[in-house]
Amino acid sequence: MATNLGQCDKCRAANSYKAINCIECGARLPWADAIAAHPAAASGSAHPDLDFLNKPAQPVQSAAAPPNYPYQPQQSICERCGWVGQPQTYTPGSIAIEILLWLAFLLPGILYSCWRLISRTKACPTCKGVMLPLTTPRGQMLHKQFYN
Ligand SMILES: [Zn+2]
Ligand SMILES: [Zn+2]
Repeated sequence: MATNLGQCDKCRAANSYKAINCIECGARLPWADAIAAHPAAASGSAHPDLDFLNKPAQPVQSAAAPPNYPYQPQQSICERCGWVGQPQTYTPGSIAIEILLWLAFLLPGILYSCWRLISRTKACPTCKGVMLPLTTPRGQMLHKQFYN
């Protein structure tokens, strides 16, 4: 086993960790002192300090399995076409009219701004249909309708 072999300091020959002296040049091996200090370990595969050489690499912890649900919970489904994703926010009216009303008559400007804010909807980018969050019962029902 290659992992049980170490290199001689002097001649770079491969030597077993159980050996005290190099098989090639007879020099004292770098781990000889450790073996001498722990004679019991020499009877094993290798010195405990060198055990890591024989151990297989720790298996990498697999990341948590992704949930079975195919979509992100914050996504929504279109009531009309079944498109799933992030709804787009649509603000009705136009900013030009808003500015004009504010400049010309203050009160209608305020009212127009309020109307735009209240009427702002989350809609499907494909068909401008109403979108419902997938987390709601109605959203789940639509998802079943379109994808089963
Ligand atoms: Zn040697
Ligand atoms: Zn749609």
